[in-house]
Amino acid sequence: MLNIGCHLSASKGYLNMGKEALSINANTFQFFSRNPRGSKAKELDLKDIEEYKKLAEENNFATILAHAPYILNPCSSNEQNRILAFELMQDDLKRLEYIPNQMYNFHPGSHTGQGVEVGINQISEMLNKLLTEEQTTTVLLETMAGKGSEVGSKFEELKAIIDKVDLKEKMGVCLDTCHVNDAGYDVVNNLDGVLEEFDKVIGIKYLKAIHLNDSKNPLASHKDRHECIGEGHIGIEAFERIINHPQLKHLPFYLETPNELEGYKKEIEILRNLYK
Ligand code: FE
Ligand code: FE
Ligand code: ZN
Repeated sequence: MLNIGCHLSASKGYLNMGKEALSINANTFQFFSRNPRGSKAKELDLKDIEEYKKLAEENNFATILAHAPYILNPCSSNEQNRILAFELMQDDLKRLEYIPNQMYNFHPGSHTGQGVEVGINQISEMLNKLLTEEQTTTVLLETMAGKGSEVGSKFEELKAIIDKVDLKEKMGVCLDTCHVNDAGYDVVNNLDGVLEEFDKVIGIKYLKAIHLNDSKNPLASHKDRHECIGEGHIGIEAFERIINHPQLKHLPFYLETPNELEGYKKEIEILRNLYK
């Protein structure tokens, strides 16, 4: 079965997201761990969490994915921002343990002029201070489009971060199809080659999730503008190959396309029909 969901608003809690997912024939979802542009987290509602767990179990949900806020930047040149990144992720990871075995995706960061090397060191240093043997959450580095001073648009950079992390078994990568297209990896004409390179550089076992987005921009544009499935430069045939690829088809897929619930429902239906 295709494990697919979309990004949902967390404002009404986990149970609400679970019900919304079911209403669009999804069996997983992504959500922001807290306000994406602010730092404040909602109070945890333990009753909501228990009710959600029951719903997820009854409906065989695949692993859900929390997305860190955009302001989290562990490799900012500003020390206050690096401290904030540490504190936000520490609090997020603590909260996520209330629902075991989630995944937590974050943008590795923007080095803001310090250089990629310094960025990679600061990102891995933060992870080494935060990750614990006991945690059940897997932390995912997202592949980035390479706009501005973003770290993580090259597989080598993600590999370098993981190499410096001690608890590698707590780490993974989330491949965003729009971002890798914009970064210059041709998943349209050379999906096998891109995955071979991923395996050679990072190791395919680290690939834990896919952000399924079409792109408003062509290959190697370094832009990061998501488009609805089939309406951008990636195109529906490529998505059919992606969701059915033997190295990918078992993974959870999360849509982050410019849609409301109704649009997501249509995309999920199209993709489920294309899944073999
Ligand atoms: Fe993201
Ligand atoms: Fe993404
Ligand atoms: Zn994006």
